[in-house]
Amino acid sequence: MVIWTENARMGEPYWQLNAAPAPKFAAGLPPKADILIIGAGYTGLSAAIAAHDTGADVVVLDREQPGAGASSRNGGMFGAHPRLGWRELAKLFGEAVADALFAEAKPALECVKSLIADEKIDCDLQHTGRIQLAWTAGHFEALKTLAEDVAAKSEVQAHIVERRDLAAEINTDRYFGGLVLAEHCGIDPQKLHLGLVQAAQARGIKILANCEVSDLARKHGGFVATTPLGRINADKVILATNGYTTDNFRWFQRRVFPLPSYLIATEELPEGLIAHLAPGGRMMVETRARHSYFRASPDGKRILFGGRASMRDLPLDVAAKRQHATMCEVWPELSQTRLSHVWKGFTGYTFNHMPHVGCENGLHYALGFSGSGTVMATYLGRKVALQATGAEGGETAYSQTRLATSWLHPFTRPHFLKAADLWYRTWVDTRENYLNRQGRSPL
Ligand SMILES: Cc1cc2nc3c(=O)[nH]c(=O)nc-3n(C[C@H](O)[C@H](O)[C@H](O)COP(=O)(O)OP(=O)(O)OC[C@H]3O[C@@H](n4cnc5c(N)ncnc54)[C@H](O)[C@@H]3O)c2cc1C
Repeated sequence: MVIWTENARMGEPYWQLNAAPAPKFAAGLPPKADILIIGAGYTGLSAAIAAHDTGADVVVLDREQPGAGASSRNGGMFGAHPRLGWRELAKLFGEAVADALFAEAKPALECVKSLIADEKIDCDLQHTGRIQLAWTAGHFEALKTLAEDVAAKSEVQAHIVERRDLAAEINTDRYFGGLVLAEHCGIDPQKLHLGLVQAAQARGIKILANCEVSDLARKHGGFVATTPLGRINADKVILATNGYTTDNFRWFQRRVFPLPSYLIATEELPEGLIAHLAPGGRMMVETRARHSYFRASPDGKRILFGGRASMRDLPLDVAAKRQHATMCEVWPELSQTRLSHVWKGFTGYTFNHMPHVGCENGLHYALGFSGSGTVMATYLGRKVALQATGAEGGETAYSQTRLATSWLHPFTRPHFLKAADLWYRTWVDTRENYLNRQGRSPL
């Protein structure tokens, strides 16, 4: 049963609690730009900064308030490793691309850490490391293989934590072991977004809110975009709309679909409880298909617990109930803990779980972060901008992945997610939970 605090916020991200006032955005739409960017999340803003710094005149448009997408409402886990293991990547894209994707993890992380430092962005960056927690014995074997591949193919630091040593990381007997990626961090995602807005505005880049691009047409080798504020001509356009891509970009909607992710925040916990629950102080992610991810808030007072409560759009009170139940599976001692927040956002998922940077019919894009974008969206936003401007440094292995669609998704609405949700809930969850119970040491 979920117990709410008296002033609980339904739908408002926890990050709003101590947020600075929203910045002011530009009022008038300029008639032209060298580079027009659609979407003002991490991808669009990072692309804007990089394109501006090559000398381009840049305008960024967002259909809502910039940050209304995933970039101000995510879990703040900050890391850059591909979602798939080396062997899966090699099967999909070939060994050379798999090698290049693994090798790019470290430079991607360093690139965004440098951006934060250079722009003096105060986003509560905490060098916590991240632990991936194995829900079944089979998952733990897979983590060990991943650790070997990470050591062999990248500069990233990774080490295995055996089940007997896990108590130093997390106080629960649910997991079979873990993999620590020591250079990963925690951030306040809204502060990172605000910092990128400020860095762009300090350069004189125009960012417009409530300015949806409802039509984009080719004209004289460039583009003309239609918005509620009129039309704007641009030599080049970058699409940075990820999980919020609108119907007018049908080719992209069939390849990047919105998968909801739900987060809850607990009330402030009694002193010492978080150190007892998670003595490792890391960002924590499960290997279960439901993909729970959790952490302490930057002030160390609450637990923020996210996951795929459903692949469909759920009422927030139902999502909160599911997230709360999952949290209590990990830490039963939180069963009477009240919740202060529940919120959701849409990740832009791809059928192969990998983002892609490319150009379709002259339209540049960096999309498909598949739930892992605090670093990758910021990093690949920069790459797509350098590709669009033709400046040096735009090469990335993420241009050698693919944005593929599936027969499951013939329309712009992702109706297949209803069936996928049922499949996960009835078969995958049940099987994983069975394997978890089977392998648990008798207490
Ligand atoms: C709940 C949740 C938790 C997450 N947790 C993590 C995490 O802990 N760690 C991690 O690495 N990643 C996480 N992610 C993923 C990460 O937040 C995203 O990958 C990243 O923010 C994507 O940034 P973006 O700029 O590409 O897209 P967004 O931030 O989603 O921005 C897209 C923007 O495009 C605008 N737009 C759409 N269509 C148009 C149009 N036609 N005209 C103008 N504007 C338009 C939208 O209004 C929106 O503002 C999470 C995501 C969610 C939803």
